[in-house]
Amino acid sequence: MRGLNRVLALDVQNRKIRVQAGITWRDIQEAIDPHDLSLRIMQTYSNFTVGGSLSVNVHGRYIGEGPLVRSVESIRVVLADGSLIEASPTRNSEIFYGAIGGYGGIGVIVEVTLSLTENHKVEKHHQRIRVDQYLQYFLSRIRDDKSVVFQNADLYPPFYKTVNSVEWRRTDKSLTETERLIPRNQKYVFQPRAIKTLNHLPGGKLIRSGVIDPILNSTESVVWRNHEASYDVAELEPPSRDRSTFVLQEYFVPVKRLNEFIPKMRKVLAKHRVKVFNVSIRHALPDPGTLLAWAPEEVFALVVYYEQGTGEKARTRVATWTRELIDEVISVKGRHYLPYQIHATPAQFQTEYPRAHEYFLLKKKLDPTHKFRNKLWDHYYSPVLSKVEKQNKEGRLPASKK
Ligand SMILES: Cc1cc2nc3c(=O)[nH]c(=O)nc-3n(C[C@H](O)[C@H](O)[C@H](O)COP(=O)(O)OP(=O)(O)OC[C@H]3O[C@@H](n4cnc5c(N)ncnc54)[C@H](O)[C@@H]3O)c2cc1C
Repeated sequence: MRGLNRVLALDVQNRKIRVQAGITWRDIQEAIDPHDLSLRIMQTYSNFTVGGSLSVNVHGRYIGEGPLVRSVESIRVVLADGSLIEASPTRNSEIFYGAIGGYGGIGVIVEVTLSLTENHKVEKHHQRIRVDQYLQYFLSRIRDDKSVVFQNADLYPPFYKTVNSVEWRRTDKSLTETERLIPRNQKYVFQPRAIKTLNHLPGGKLIRSGVIDPILNSTESVVWRNHEASYDVAELEPPSRDRSTFVLQEYFVPVKRLNEFIPKMRKVLAKHRVKVFNVSIRHALPDPGTLLAWAPEEVFALVVYYEQGTGEKARTRVATWTRELIDEVISVKGRHYLPYQIHATPAQFQTEYPRAHEYFLLKKKLDPTHKFRNKLWDHYYSPVLSKVEKQNKEGRLPASKK
């Protein structure tokens, strides 16, 4: 898909852009920044493609936003029979809400029209809060404050007693960083090594929360919105993946149940001695209707960044604690995020995503030969399909042979 990477139309006045789906956020940023425009929703890092992001329905750290679908006006999808379909909330809406967040199973998204917003300066603020007071803090000081553009709260392991809320607010102050975007192809050597060292050092996590973060947070920072949205994943690349690597998982929890989930999560992570570096809490408003929505209501997203061994045994251990954590998120009516390692049992998947059967029916109708496959759908869809086909075959057999 990377070859389908053109900007097809930019409507500066109406703040809209039409792109081919293999384009990366970074390429779009370079096209819109000269017009003082900015993407409304994307991930923290800008390397990903629009099609890959739509297919998992990503989110970022934006306040007053949520899943990416909220900023999509329409898509064009190539279906399994080769037809090209235009889909929007009002036209072929079942394809729109099936393909977005549909993990490539409905068709290939080839074009997308996104709504944009203005690029402006933002200033970083931070606030250290006791974890049990965070919900109240967020609801009263962040959620409805239109000046807050990006926000996330870092929850510090191993005690998970405090959070550091990092807030980027609109400002007219002078820039402390004049680059409009983070320069491409920077060399990131220090940060991945520092993360690894701190994660291994006895007391390393306390050094981070008590020494490093306060120093980082004390420096004044005023940047362009587009600059803060143009991070490169290279800054996370570990020095080696031979024995271990750093990995993400994510759990979505209804807003009012955050305080119930955090101790449950802490218990599972401690029991299995998971080497957690950080848990970042973000907020998302509800999804307007995708079939595999991870935010059927307003949620907090808890992004767990941890180190795991790359050997078979380590992976089996991760599968065990991941399933325990998924049970805990189910107990608060939440869901886990599907782009990462596939450890949830089919039963857990069905419980978390109750509209999966509607998605499967749509897939069966549009892609009867299961042309659009990947590991996720081989795991959760193929067995369902085989069962249905077996039943159909049995249904067709003469009564004497049943
Ligand atoms: C370091 C890191 C940080 C991340 N941060 C965030 C974050 O902040 N927020 C968040 O929500 N997620 C985050 N993610 C997850 C990431 O957004 C998803 O994995 C996303 O799908 C990656 O995009 P991609 O272009 O690499 O897609 P790919 O990995 O190439 O594809 C992802 C899925 O989409 C399908 N697909 C790809 N293109 C198309 C298309 N054109 N049409 C139909 N289907 C398609 C693929 O078949 C696959 O199922 C992060 C991941 C990493 C590794």
